[in-house]
Amino acid sequence: LTTADLIDEEHRICVCVRARPLNKKELTMKDLDVITIPSKDVVMVHEPKQKVDLTRYLENQTFRFDYAFDDSTDNDMVYRFTARPLVETIFERGMATCFAYGQTGSGKTHTMGGDFSGKNQDCSKGVYALAARDVFLMLKKPNYKKLDLNVFATFFEIYSGKLFKSKLRVLEDGKQQVQVVGLQERDVKCTEDVLKLIEVGNSCRTSGQTSANAHSSRSHAVFQIILRRRGKMHGKFSLIDLAGNERGADTSSADRQTRLEGAEINKSLLALKECIRALGRNKPHTPFRASKLTQVLRDSFIGENSRTCMIATISPGMASCENTLNTLRYANSGV
Ligand code: ADP
Ligand code: MG
Repeated sequence: LTTADLIDEEHRICVCVRARPLNKKELTMKDLDVITIPSKDVVMVHEPKQKVDLTRYLENQTFRFDYAFDDSTDNDMVYRFTARPLVETIFERGMATCFAYGQTGSGKTHTMGGDFSGKNQDCSKGVYALAARDVFLMLKKPNYKKLDLNVFATFFEIYSGKLFKSKLRVLEDGKQQVQVVGLQERDVKCTEDVLKLIEVGNSCRTSGQTSANAHSSRSHAVFQIILRRRGKMHGKFSLIDLAGNERGADTSSADRQTRLEGAEINKSLLALKECIRALGRNKPHTPFRASKLTQVLRDSFIGENSRTCMIATISPGMASCENTLNTLRYANSGV
């Protein structure tokens, strides 16, 4: 990968895939790695190495993306080729959006840096923090300094389903199927302010939940950095840790609430795909009304100067193969 790869002015959509290593649980269960990333933009899903059938995987299971990151790639590298080029967009009066998409457990939160439990990761090394850091750095450049921009940030979630008991709830639709809960916009002066905001938002998200992961797999977490000039919006960067895309089990679930939630998540992820496609093809009509997620991000899709980046995260194990293929197909259709 070279810096020349980064410079592509016409490129409004960038789609990348990131594979994580097999984790302890998968290793204990003797799951096998079925992912190979043979070059910087190709992902192969194949039979476990022990019995590779070349013709099959070359013909049917090869996907090409803007970038493919193997399990040795760190967050800093992923950031440099995904969200980093979008920081400039918001200084140039544009709208930037970066999504983490994938199955629960595939590495969305690890990539974005939204896990504040301290167990798995240092949040200051995730995409949220790195983007915030670069916004504050960019602000000091003479060109932008003279614009006298102010930085605001907000962190909220779109949670489909049961009423989320939080004082931070700010929006709710009539049927109470979808809600946006979270914090008001705050002015922020440094990366630490931003991380504090996300941490507080996170602690509100998970309160009353049996498990943080169970909740996050069913909600979209939205972090936004907003630049304002004399009170008017100058640019906005939205970074989104999407709900897990695995929904097969939900549709057959006996629990009505779970089924409704699952259907709502499916709907929002489909709507998102359509909006990204419309953006890439410069279509006049963007179908953002189809879900709360795309409504909330409406102005990110219709702006003249909008750029989007998707980081599709995948689990390498054979046990996850079906979900992995779904993720790769979804991401592939965005380009
Ligand atoms: P998701 O948010 O998609 O549900 P997580 O980000 O929580 O998944 O990742 C699940 C687990 O895998 C976490 O323990 C996380 O630290 C670990 N993990 C994810 N991606 C990587 C990676 N690229 N390298 C090492 N560990 C990872
Ligand atoms: Mg997560």
